[in-house]
Amino acid sequence: MDLVLEVHDIHRIYETDAGFTHALKGVSLAVERGEFLCIMGPSGSGKSTLMNVLGCLDTPSSGTYILEGVDVSSLDDDELAQVRATRIGFVFQSFNLLPRSTVMRNVMLPLVYSDCPVGRREERAIRALSAVSLPEEYYDHKSNELSGGQMQRVAIARALVNDPALILADEPTGNLDSATGEMVLRTFRRLRDEGKTVVLITHDPEVSSWADRTVHIRDGILLTDEQERSLRGSAHSVRGLT
Ligand code: ADP
Ligand code: MG
Repeated sequence: MDLVLEVHDIHRIYETDAGFTHALKGVSLAVERGEFLCIMGPSGSGKSTLMNVLGCLDTPSSGTYILEGVDVSSLDDDELAQVRATRIGFVFQSFNLLPRSTVMRNVMLPLVYSDCPVGRREERAIRALSAVSLPEEYYDHKSNELSGGQMQRVAIARALVNDPALILADEPTGNLDSATGEMVLRTFRRLRDEGKTVVLITHDPEVSSWADRTVHIRDGILLTDEQERSLRGSAHSVRGLT
C-alpha cells in the first residue's frame, strides 16, 4: 500500500475565553496515493479543523501526522510553510484568487515559493490550466472576469501547479450551482484518474457520491468501518447523520 498520509490519534483542543472546545477527539486515517477521499460531516463536526491539520495550517494538540513518510507533527513553522508551499494544493469554497491578477499570474503564484526557475513557470502554469480544461482564451483574463466555475478551475490549476502530494478541498462546490459544481467534481475525478490524491471536505452527500471513499465525522470523531456500514445500510440514518 502506497500511503500519501497517515494520521494517528489526532486531538485538537481550542482554548478560548469561553473555555475549551475539543474539536478533534482521536482521529486516525490513512489515505492512499491516487485516492479520491471525501470527509463528510455536519456543520461544527470538526471538518475544517481536520482540514487545517492535514494542510499543515495548524498543529494538533496531540497525535502524529505522517505526510509522504515525513513526520510533520515535529516540524517547526518554517518547515511547515515549506511543506504547505510545495506538497499540498488547497482549494477553497471562496476560490481565494487575486481578483485583479490574470489567470496566468494566479496560477503561477505558488511557483514563487518553490524552486521552479522563472523561465519555466509559464510552461508549468499552462500545463496545470490544461489539466483543468480552461480554454486558452481565458489565460490573460483577470480572474474577476470569470464565472464561478471558471474561477474554481483556475483555483484547482493553482493547487496543481507544484505537483503536490495532496490536493485538499474544503467545500469546493459550496458557492456553485449544481451543474457547475458537477463540472468541478468531474475535474477532481479526472485528476484522480491521473494518479493525484484528492481529499475533499463537505457536508453534502451529493458531493460525496463522486468520491471513491467517504468517511463520516461527527463531533470530532471519525465513524468506524462498522458504523459506516450500518450507515450505508440504512437510508434513514443517512438522513439523520448528514
Ligand atoms: P466544521 O468545519 O465541520 O463546521 P469546525 O472544525 O470549524 O467544524 O469546528 C469544530 C468545532 O470547533 C466547533 O465547535 C467550533 O465552534 C470549534 N472551533 C473551530 N475553530 C475554532 C477556533 N479557532 N477557536 C475556538 N473554537 C473553534
Ligand atoms: Mg468548516
